[in-house]
This record gives sequence, structure tokens and C-alpha cells, in this order.
Amino acid sequence: MRRLPVRQLGWTALIAGGVVVGGLLLPYALLPSYHYPPPTPFAGREWYNPYAGMRGAWHQMALHDHGLTCCSLVEERRSDEAMAAYYHALGYDVALVSDHQRFSYLPGPRIYEHGMNVLKTHQLVIGARDIDWIDFPLLQSTDDKQYVLDRLRAEAVLVGLAHPKIRNGYSFDDLRRLTGYDFMEVLHEDVSYEQWWDAALSAGRLSWATGSDDAHGTGRPSKMGLSWTMLRGFSTEADALVSALRQGWSYAVKGQRGVNDVQLRDVAIRGDTLVVATDPGALSFTFVGQGGHVRSVVHASSRASYLLRPEDSYIRTVVRTPRTTLYLNPVVRTPGQRPAMARAVPALAATWGLRAALLSTLLGLTWALRRRERPTRGARLSARAPGRRRPRRVAA
Ligand SMILES: [Zn+2]
Ligand SMILES: [Zn+2]
Repeated sequence: MRRLPVRQLGWTALIAGGVVVGGLLLPYALLPSYHYPPPTPFAGREWYNPYAGMRGAWHQMALHDHGLTCCSLVEERRSDEAMAAYYHALGYDVALVSDHQRFSYLPGPRIYEHGMNVLKTHQLVIGARDIDWIDFPLLQSTDDKQYVLDRLRAEAVLVGLAHPKIRNGYSFDDLRRLTGYDFMEVLHEDVSYEQWWDAALSAGRLSWATGSDDAHGTGRPSKMGLSWTMLRGFSTEADALVSALRQGWSYAVKGQRGVNDVQLRDVAIRGDTLVVATDPGALSFTFVGQGGHVRSVVHASSRASYLLRPEDSYIRTVVRTPRTTLYLNPVVRTPGQRPAMARAVPALAATWGLRAALLSTLLGLTWALRRRERPTRGARLSARAPGRRRPRRVAA
């Protein structure tokens, strides 16, 4: 076998390193800067109640979990089916698998978990035609996160923020600014991320709560059935589930082994009063508002009400029962219809300014390298050994 000279090996390693670093940095070069709508609490004379007009029955759903196989189609199918079988045995009506960068083989809405970065800024993507492979693998600014959300949203039906707390994947400051997502994983395993949700809601960013185990395989039963999502509708067909999740006919539950002891019956606004009704068996109803502040706690078994105050921008309810905690979606102030989340828009001047700065830095570095490589005239002269001088021609 022919051995590569050391110098050639060095160049090969340099080029390979350049390709890897270039691949890691490319998404950063694509990135636009954004203008974010200012964080503004919900306002208006009317109240928007996502549960108004809900119909059908409640369905218990596992939304975010992993089959834990890779690179063998047979094994992937088997692991998806094993996850679904486990959740169905616990009593769930719908069991989805949302693997990293892969659609599962199960029937139902197409869902996957997007994100290939060290700080675990992940998204749950529902109804996308294809998997999106663009991500920012190292640090992520708010602009990076907004860019990913916009890319995913353009191709999907619904996008949610997964486990916002883990490694500070979404900081409070991010959540006061980011736009363009539909739901947030407020319950993850047995941990509540209410503060993250309240940071977004208090800034007028409306999203609905989901709960998930994020279980990886069926090997740790103690990690399964801790958090789940309840969706209301006439069926468990994909369209009905997506529609319920879009409208906010849903709530998140924390419990044990997937057991619902009490289910939500109704959320209504009568005049200036919010009324929440459940099956009998609840212990307390906690009403939470702007800034995540607790406005009122009512100890009751199946019904509680809250007098909406002029300073309230949103009110969400947490129902505690002997075995579970229910996190209901908020009612929010609005001037009219459903409050739409204002969208961040790319800031063109800043975007092209940044790209121009990157390009000129790259060109400058290349020029400096080439200049280092080229020997100066003095070095060329001194490099000539006396014995190798050309013999002077003598005229004949
Ligand atoms: Zn994740
Ligand atoms: Zn996950």
C-alpha cells in the first residue's frame, strides 16, 4: 500500500477539519436577525376561553416518547409498537412515538422531535411532510431558536417547545420574545415547567400545555405514566387530535401509572366569573395569573369559581386531586376573536449586515493566510544556495 507523505496527510486532515467546522457553522451563516413584537400582556374587554364549545369525549395521549432504536427498520417498527402497546396497557387511548429526527411507523399524526444541539433546545413537530435537518449544534441565540421555529412551522401543522427547562434550552428571556409555536411541554416526566409557561403567557405569547414522559424505551416502567395530555374530540383519528390540540381542547396531567382519578368537565365564563367544573373528588382549585402569581385557591370537590379582575390578563387553573394534578389552559383577555400570537419578522438590514461582516472576515482571513504562505523577496534571495547559482553565460 502506498504511504501518503506526512505533508499530504496534514492537508487532508486540515481539509476534513474545515469541512466539519464549516458544516457546524453553516447554519449560523444562514441565520437572519429578528424584530420581536414587544412583550405585552393580553389585553381587551373580552375573554377568550379555549374550552368554549368543546365537544366529544376526553382521550388520554402519550405525545412524546422514544422507541430507542436506530438504523434497523425492523427494530424501529418493533420498538414503536412496543411503546404503543405499553401505553395502551396503561389505559391510554392514543400512544405516539416522537423519535429524534424520525417519523414512527405507528398510525396517527406524523410527529417527530427536532433538535441536534448540545443544549437540548428541542421541538415537537406534528404534521410535517419531511424531517428538517437544519439546526444550530452549539450555542443558540434567541434568533437561532426563532429561525428554527419558523422553518419548522412553514412545513408542519403544529410545533411545540419540548422540555424548555432542560439545560435552559429556552430561557425566560427567550420565552418573552419567541413567537410561532402552538404548545409547550409544561409537564415533563414528573416535573412541572409552569414558570416557563407563565414567562411566555405574561408576555402575550399564547400556547397550550402538554404533558409527556419523554420515556426512552420501555425498560424503566417507573418513568412511564408520570405525565400525559388529555385531548377532547369525537375520535382518535389524526385530524381530530390535531384539531383539539390546535384549539386548546386539552390539558396536561401529572400522576402515577397514567391513572386519571378526576377529569375536567367544563370551563366557562359567566359574566365576570370563571367557573371550572370537574368530576367529584378534587381537593383544590388554584387560579394563577400574570407573572405566575397565585390569585386564589379554592378548596372544593368538583366546582370552583374566580371573579375576574380588571388587572387580570390571563387566568389558568391548576386542579389538585388525591392522585393527580391537572394543568388547564388559560382564559385570556382579547379585544375580539382568538388572540393571535404576533410574529417575529426578519430584520433585513441587520441580517445582511451580519452576513457581510462574516464574508469580509472570511475573505480577510484567506488573504492573510495566502500572504503568510508567499515568501518575501528577501527570503527568496537568501534561500538560494551559492552552489546552486546558475552559471554565468560567457559570450563566445
Ligand atoms: Zn428532547
Ligand atoms: Zn424526547
